[in-house]
Amino acid sequence: MLNFECVAMRYADGTQALGGVSLQVPAGQFCVVLGSSGAGKSTLLRMANGLVQPTRGMVRIQGVRVAADSLARIRTRIGMIHQQFNLVLRSTVAENVLAGALPALPTWRALMGLFTDAQRRKACALIESVGLQEQHLFRRVSELSGGQQQRVGIARAFMLDPPLVLADEPVASLDPQTSHDVLSLLRTQARERGTTVLCSLHQVELACEFADRIVALRHGAVVFDGAPGAFDPRVFDAIYGRAPAAVRGESAGAGPEVVLALHTGLLEMAS
Ligand code: ADP
Repeated sequence: MLNFECVAMRYADGTQALGGVSLQVPAGQFCVVLGSSGAGKSTLLRMANGLVQPTRGMVRIQGVRVAADSLARIRTRIGMIHQQFNLVLRSTVAENVLAGALPALPTWRALMGLFTDAQRRKACALIESVGLQEQHLFRRVSELSGGQQQRVGIARAFMLDPPLVLADEPVASLDPQTSHDVLSLLRTQARERGTTVLCSLHQVELACEFADRIVALRHGAVVFDGAPGAFDPRVFDAIYGRAPAAVRGESAGAGPEVVLALHTGLLEMAS
């Protein structure tokens, strides 16, 4: 469904953010990209919606290559959820959720804010389904708590029933209980629709609780790819930097779904 084919990214200042990552995310999977700050998670997610052009390799969504000439088509298939919510604070909850339909509107309708009745009904249903009440519809987003704002962000992401949702550290600004509630909501919304989710996180325990699959990055390379059940302390060490050599030495005994690949690129970048 979502294919990263040996993608690499070197920014203009020479920073190598990704060193050749290949990843296939099948339809309906809740895939968490795990890693500490600077591991390359955002760069990977931003490649999927064309905000970052890989310096090598390519990304395909439902077989379509993500490129300048396919972006308009592809963006109607992607819902985005952001760490800082990216809502218009002075606009209402309803207006923010309706904005999720903008990529599918002709430009003149988008400029005039001319949404269809069906889109308005859909926005109301989504707002209810993320746990906000009718009285929130016309409330300014700036008056909501962080957790409520991210609920609005989730409702907006599902406005076009996209086959793919990208969530870039969606709970990084929230307290632990709210983080749990928001990820639970995201997973429920995705499962109900069979949506594929690529979600970056830095918290191991949340990744293990919510992911169908964890792909861990370190220094722009995949150091683990497997089910949460296969995640053990050795993997934790590989991601967060303790004793990578030991992990490398034990990797031959890992189960079939575990890929403890300390890529040569990773070792080069770490040194
Ligand atoms: P993460 O999301 O895991 O924190 P990022 O993908 O944001 O990681 O960053 C990976 C690396 O790329 C970091 O070293 C970061 O400083 C660098 N980086 C990210 N964006 C840019 C940019 N626009 N220009 C230069 N370096 C960048």
